[in-house]
Amino acid sequence: MTTLLALIFAAATTLVMAVVGHRVHLAHFHLIGGIPMGAMAIGAGAAVGVAIAIRLTNTYDTGRFRILGYLAGFTAYMIVVVTDYVALQLRVGDRVFPATELMNIARYLMLLVEEGAKAAASALPRWVRIPPEVMFWVGMVRLAVEFVGTLVATGWAISLLTGVPFCWRNRRFYELKQLVESANTVAVREWELAVHQRRPIEARAILARVKAGRVQPQDRMWMRIVAHQCPICLAARVRIEKRKRSAGWVRTEPQDEFLLDEARGSVVLAT
Ligand SMILES: [Zn+2]
Repeated sequence: MTTLLALIFAAATTLVMAVVGHRVHLAHFHLIGGIPMGAMAIGAGAAVGVAIAIRLTNTYDTGRFRILGYLAGFTAYMIVVVTDYVALQLRVGDRVFPATELMNIARYLMLLVEEGAKAAASALPRWVRIPPEVMFWVGMVRLAVEFVGTLVATGWAISLLTGVPFCWRNRRFYELKQLVESANTVAVREWELAVHQRRPIEARAILARVKAGRVQPQDRMWMRIVAHQCPICLAARVRIEKRKRSAGWVRTEPQDEFLLDEARGSVVLAT
């Protein structure tokens, strides 16, 4: 269900970003000659669909959806690059070409590299001169940065829109560390209590019981523990939710949410 929703929304936002990106020439819009703002906007915009699906269905940023998001960003970016190519008038930098003049992709790619290098060079102070033989590589790097920027922005957009905490000290989003669904609601309560009462070692032992309480198809109600953690400082945010099955649809109700500082996060969530 979520996958289907994610696919539909992702396709929709991908197409929207592809059209917008082509219309306003976003693909190769850089700031200060090298920051790929346009490509990042395309990636972020295309990821919105996946983020909406995650939000609507209360699933988390599991790897599967992230990959779908990256695919959406990549596809939108490629569509913009290709539609730019097949458009009757091609505008790269300040030069305008009729499409017939560019009969092959290789020539087009070379043009992107060359124009990118020029744009990057023009952002440098006047006294810096880039030797001509290096210009090609400057253009290549700029194109690669643009491409990577698209994917990075996709990941950021998903994290931001799905409420993943951001660690300002290490300047990165938390990662999904644990997503446990358990029919053993008593154990989940005990786990929560142990964490709140600062008995982390015990909490870890209880977590094994929580994990053992597998959710069966006939279960109508169960609990879920979702932990996001900063990969560097190990601070974490934990959400506890109640899930109910009714008429083929699973409803999610938030129960508790708390933050663990670095020390507690590292002990409670150690595996
Ligand atoms: Zn951190």
